Amino acid sequence: MIRILQQQQQFRNKVRYSLTHSEAKLRKSLFSNSPIETTMFIELLKGQKYRGIAQMSFQLKEAKSLFLDCQGQDISSLIVNNQTLQNVKQDGNKVWIEQGLKKDQNRIEVYFQNQYSTTGHGLHSFMDNEDQYVYSQCEPHHASKMFPCFDQPDLKGTFKLFAYAPKEWKVISNERYLENPRIPQFVQEKGYFPFDQQYKIWEFDQTKPLSTYLYAILAGPYVEIKAPEELLHNQIPQSLYCRKSLLKFVMNDAYSIFKVTSDSMKFFDDLFQYKYPFGKYDQIFCPEYSTGAMENAGAVTINDLYVFKEPVPKSQVASRANTIIHELSHMWFGDLVTMEWWDDLWLNESFAEFISHLCQDNVCQGEKVNYWVQFLERKLWGYVTDEKSTTHPIYCQIDNTDQAENIFDGITYAKGAALIKQIYFTMGREGFSKAMGLYFQKHAYGNTKLSDFFESMSINKNVNWEEFKQEWIMTSGFNVLSYTTETNQIVIKQSGSHLRKHAITIGQFVNNSWITHKIQVDAKEKHNWSLLILNYNDENYIKNQTQQILQNLSTIQNSLNRLLVLQSIFDQVRDGQTCFLDFQQGVSNFLLHETDDTVIKIILNWCAAGVNNYTPYSYRAAVRENLASTVKQLIDCTQEQSKLLTLRSHYISWSRTIERLSSINIEEIGVKDGWTYIYNQFLYNKVQWNLYDKVALKDADHKKHKRFLESLSVDRDQLWSYFMNFDKNESVQQVSQVMRAFNHEKFIDQLEKYEVRFFEVIVQIFETKESEYAKAFFNNLYPVGENLEAYQQLSKEALTKTKNDFLTKLLKEAIDINDKRLKAYKTFK
Ligand SMILES: [Zn+2]
Repeated sequence: MIRILQQQQQFRNKVRYSLTHSEAKLRKSLFSNSPIETTMFIELLKGQKYRGIAQMSFQLKEAKSLFLDCQGQDISSLIVNNQTLQNVKQDGNKVWIEQGLKKDQNRIEVYFQNQYSTTGHGLHSFMDNEDQYVYSQCEPHHASKMFPCFDQPDLKGTFKLFAYAPKEWKVISNERYLENPRIPQFVQEKGYFPFDQQYKIWEFDQTKPLSTYLYAILAGPYVEIKAPEELLHNQIPQSLYCRKSLLKFVMNDAYSIFKVTSDSMKFFDDLFQYKYPFGKYDQIFCPEYSTGAMENAGAVTINDLYVFKEPVPKSQVASRANTIIHELSHMWFGDLVTMEWWDDLWLNESFAEFISHLCQDNVCQGEKVNYWVQFLERKLWGYVTDEKSTTHPIYCQIDNTDQAENIFDGITYAKGAALIKQIYFTMGREGFSKAMGLYFQKHAYGNTKLSDFFESMSINKNVNWEEFKQEWIMTSGFNVLSYTTETNQIVIKQSGSHLRKHAITIGQFVNNSWITHKIQVDAKEKHNWSLLILNYNDENYIKNQTQQILQNLSTIQNSLNRLLVLQSIFDQVRDGQTCFLDFQQGVSNFLLHETDDTVIKIILNWCAAGVNNYTPYSYRAAVRENLASTVKQLIDCTQEQSKLLTLRSHYISWSRTIERLSSINIEEIGVKDGWTYIYNQFLYNKVQWNLYDKVALKDADHKKHKRFLESLSVDRDQLWSYFMNFDKNESVQQVSQVMRAFNHEKFIDQLEKYEVRFFEVIVQIFETKESEYAKAFFNNLYPVGENLEAYQQLSKEALTKTKNDFLTKLLKEAIDINDKRLKAYKTFK
């Protein structure tokens, strides 16, 4: 056990913390270029607490004081160059090292203890019945929630881990574990850890230099599936891990996951002209995961919602494969070469987003999925983000780590990826590959910024890179291209806050077939074409207005171009120019003839968004009934399994009347859709716990569904009081279920009195609660009623009372969404 030398004050539930860029720059300037070496001994206990010693060796250019990022831990001792510091200054966010540091080589030891988190960040703990599983999530600034460290991306360091954990647990980290683990010397010397027969020691290989946000520690009774030798690429060992209750499902898909991983690893080895840079590659499915997946070097963590417990549509399988490839590509973009600071986050995410689709298009060709349709679906996320008041250039100034957390959005991922796609096709595969090879060789295990990237691209002299950078990377917003017919001429018009030159392909329908032309568009020219589709094949980043050809849609052979046309029509719904009822009627006929599953899935998702966001409550029941009826027709005339799965999900979600619900046979539907069915029974028909038992038996994740259903009948005042006084009694994901039940549109008449209360407390919530909880509070409890003007007013007032970066962004976006709802509602009159 760690001997507690000096019990410090508890700092739990302190105000949220962020590291500023200026603090990070100053700290970086004190270190020499050699990597920090961290050796950590961590004692992973069952229950709520863990503790450890982090020993760090580093070189300083001069003897100055420093601080460690340290969020929430209790530091019991800090030793600097063999001297124990007295009265260590710490505030729950930082620990200052004010004495004992010297020029050149230094060594510090920090003794810490901590609680596992319930937020999904830091070292998160989850109970699956009696089994406890913990895993880390450190990006962008959560490594310091796990242990004290210099938590910024340009202070890279090696990481050598020793873990002490219950003997039935497995421990996983960035590098391979050693067969004959030792007790580290500094632990032996100090004699702090008497060893217990019920515990076991793990020792891992030292990592290559990594940024702290890429460190990973996982522990618990995880089960491991090793990849067979014949599936490995270049002998790099691969394993999958998951909790025990998911093993049989992961086993079903293990072969295809290993195969796509190895094929993609080979693809990237060749394309990047740099071999996979780490010692092994593990993928671990984690419960209550806050995002889709995380690219910890050699130990990728993946949301275990990606473990399929029943047959799913092809598009969903493709989407999981895309996530797998995305994280793998980060081993080069992000892990081997990392951005200096978060303003260049796009160097990680835009690449991973584009490259994963390119790779998938090459290595998964047998799956008959159009990956560029999926890319377009993601790109829509870019357009939606880019029209908000909170949009930003792809490269933007990031003053602190809270702002960094705010830009994991449609600009950094999807818009950036659309531009990398342009760069790739401009340079050609060979030119791009050569530039990437030079980039990785020059910057391996280091950090880069915007200029380093463009320097590598400059081997292609045909592109004016400075102009490209200014036009696309440094300015926000998109352009809308539309056309009108004027005296036998078709005139293309461009609009947007910043007009640009665009190279696009146009599609022209002539004599019953489509022909294409490549053209340049700028703000002044007129073009004489009888064209119909702008941005044919989705090569450019523009929104196009192509409304006239819905009747000719079936003539377009390529599903990507069909979707482009439909997108422009749905944009009009979102912009309040077309009533959602018209869109719904228009696409009903189209859906009967559509053959691409992914297109059907996207259209039905738009319909769901249309009814939930752009349709007044008084119309919703009828609209959902119409949608259910359309989908039923489609179900009745298809035999295709994948298509049926997509259709059935939507049918069940829109079936809310007794007649509709009674037409569904629960024995025929899977677990996921079964839950939707039960929710609708509970909400719109009658409480049926016997149904719950039926589905719960098949599903290890029933706890969260049960939490939702039980909360539906709890008094609203009692729930509100629970939210206000919440103090980590359960995980943020669990309490979010309760919030969803509280704020469900079914209870719209009971919610009015909480609308004003929400705005009264929201600033305080962000000031006093952990940011993950505060964000869940906002996202799940923001009023969902129809007093839209009042919400606008109250949101604007709240904006004047806060400086919190998270709350500011959420309020501004809520105002944007309410504006859109107001406009859309008017189209119903
Ligand atoms: Zn990513």
